[in-house]
Amino acid sequence: MADVLRQIERKDESIVLTFQDNDVHEVPYHVLRTFCPCANCRPRWEDPHRRLAIQEDVKRLRVEMPKAEPVGRYAVRFVWTSGCSSGLWSFTHLTAIATGMLDN
Ligand SMILES: [Zn+2]
Repeated sequence: MADVLRQIERKDESIVLTFQDNDVHEVPYHVLRTFCPCANCRPRWEDPHRRLAIQEDVKRLRVEMPKAEPVGRYAVRFVWTSGCSSGLWSFTHLTAIATGMLDN
């Protein structure tokens, strides 16, 4: 399931992820950001009892297009001016977000 990410396109309110197998997924920035993998955010969305709080925190922020920096061949670092910039979104994690595997 760990697809290779081939292309990232940043639109005004969402990111379009194209994977190696030509699967294309559009993910709103607030969804992407809810699943920030940094050390501060990860424990919040991983815990079903705390996820609602981080979702609401993110929705309160203005919609922001992050900078996207490739990290090797396996991850992307998204840099948000209003917060987290240390998380590495692995392609595996992006696949999980894009395909709704983290929704419940
Ligand atoms: Zn974070």
